[in-house]
Amino acid sequence: MTGTNQPDYRFTQVINSCRDAFIEVDAEFNVTEWSDQAEGLFGWTREEMAGRPVTEIVNSETSAFVREGFQTLRLNSHNGNGNGNGNGNGNENGNGEPVVVEVELLHRDGSLVLASGAMFTTGSNGNFRLGGFMHKEASSAELPGDRMHDMLTGLPNRSLFTRRLTGAIDALGRGVGSVAVVVFDLDRFKAINDAMGHDVGDDLLVAMVSRLRLAAGDVRPLLSRLGGDEFLALFESVSDGARQAAEDFAVQALAALQDPFDIGGSEIFLTASVGIASTADADADASTLLSNAAAAMHETKAAGGDGQRVFGEAMRQQVVERMTTEHSLHRALDRRELTLFYQPVVAISGTGTIAFEALIRWEHPEQGLVPPARFIPVAEESGLIIPIGAWVLEEACNQLFSWRQSGCTGPSGSVEVNLSARQIDHPELVATVESILETTGLPPENLTLEITESALMRDVVSALQVLQALKSLGVSLAIDDFGTGYSSLSYLQRFPLDTLKVDKSFVDELGLDQGTEIVAAVINLAHALGLNVIAEGVETEPQLQALQQLGCDYAQGFLFSRPVSAKELSENFALGA
Ligand code: C2E
Ligand code: MG
Ligand code: MG
Repeated sequence: MTGTNQPDYRFTQVINSCRDAFIEVDAEFNVTEWSDQAEGLFGWTREEMAGRPVTEIVNSETSAFVREGFQTLRLNSHNGNGNGNGNGNGNENGNGEPVVVEVELLHRDGSLVLASGAMFTTGSNGNFRLGGFMHKEASSAELPGDRMHDMLTGLPNRSLFTRRLTGAIDALGRGVGSVAVVVFDLDRFKAINDAMGHDVGDDLLVAMVSRLRLAAGDVRPLLSRLGGDEFLALFESVSDGARQAAEDFAVQALAALQDPFDIGGSEIFLTASVGIASTADADADASTLLSNAAAAMHETKAAGGDGQRVFGEAMRQQVVERMTTEHSLHRALDRRELTLFYQPVVAISGTGTIAFEALIRWEHPEQGLVPPARFIPVAEESGLIIPIGAWVLEEACNQLFSWRQSGCTGPSGSVEVNLSARQIDHPELVATVESILETTGLPPENLTLEITESALMRDVVSALQVLQALKSLGVSLAIDDFGTGYSSLSYLQRFPLDTLKVDKSFVDELGLDQGTEIVAAVINLAHALGLNVIAEGVETEPQLQALQQLGCDYAQGFLFSRPVSAKELSENFALGA
């Protein structure tokens, strides 16, 4: 506070000694006085509010009304005062009559405070001031029907958060400062919710929020619930420190989850994926900052969760790249740029090929043959995997059907088609598979659907339902990339699976340290559960021999054949390869 000249200092002393909060604004609604009690009532410090339009913290549902009211007061004051005294020391009452104002202001912690008081206008023109003492009526967050807060946690919701964020970014224009947004998303929360019930899920979220509050400590960012298990925190700094504060908070918040939660007598472990984005640019917009933080959060998630990432230039480029890929992938389907390659699955005993795995490729007009790793993640994220996946199924079934029709010289056996997690979640999956089997005429026993272990373990309860429905169509089911997705054995037993595919990373370890024992254990486990075993990515003769000794059933890998086009495959078979 200034306090350099006597009258101001005494004025400040007076307003600070009152029980009620003194607030004063100028003609632009910029705060000119903000007493100690105002700090206490609304949480904002004098430094934070000085020079800032008070309308930024007025509940938007009443702000138009407040603006209008202020405007009227100002006009009255002008009329009443004419060219009058413009000293604005707080002892002049422009219009003679105080006006009782009731207004909802946003507390720094995100709650709304309903305050009222008599406001006076002073001065005129350049020196116009509107001020008065306010006291708390009731916190509207406690009132029913609040549309600005999340019912479960009491935290501000997205719309309140976005408004505060917009205000914070606008405020950057008035000096140096920075704003940072943290997106906080629990890992595997859906699975917990499904497995333990929504009440447990709710209790967990509430308990988690109190840990987040503790983790935030004195910094007190605006915390908000975006929905589901996603939370936001807003950091503002008068320097460039917002990003650092956000990173510190993320570290604290992740640490605060280390101890298990005790909900209704069961211990639950939670981890979260955190993304951070910051800006010092007053022209930035709230939605971009939020989506940048979300992109950083998704990066964390993709890297296995339980950590934090800050959005930066490299990530921005990735986002642009993804958008470009998504854009051209949209047209790839229509332009028939997608194609399937097939890789044989052979019997370890040497009795020949039993199946072909269909593996998608993109014949990109400029980039040539693009492998699935470069576009399947984009297809999954954008939802394009649904039409693409349906195309793959139909193409693979058609191909196998026509091979079978063309006589026994062509590849027969069955075809294995990969399904992504997004397809498993899609309500139409079972109907789609059923209709494709019908239209292509392929017998269901000749189709195997592969689902990665991680896709199954993401949400075991609904995966179980989908698998059972698929199984009842008569198709076979395989668990793909086994060993990479932390299977729970009890679930593995409950899934109606036929085949287990041991991930290449385990096959690579054969002959090294305990590598052989691990593969042996997996094969024994699979056999105990009545599953066939396919070893993926077999590249060498010694690997094949080791697998033979361990009693593995089938193998797939470059040792036998790389994935090849349908044309090449039928030619190979025609030659009796
Ligand atoms: P996946 O289902 O585990 O397929 C096996 C991958 O390992 C294939 O890579 C195959 O080319 C490769 N591979 C096979 N044998 C060897 C080997 O001996 N050495 C090495 N280094 N690699 C080998 P690809 O075709 O690039 O596919 C990668 C992944 O993309 C697949 O892993 C699958 O998860 C996914 N994918 C492929 N096609 C589709 C599809 O149509 N739909 C969906 N949702 N995912 C697909
Ligand atoms: Mg596969
Ligand atoms: Mg695999």
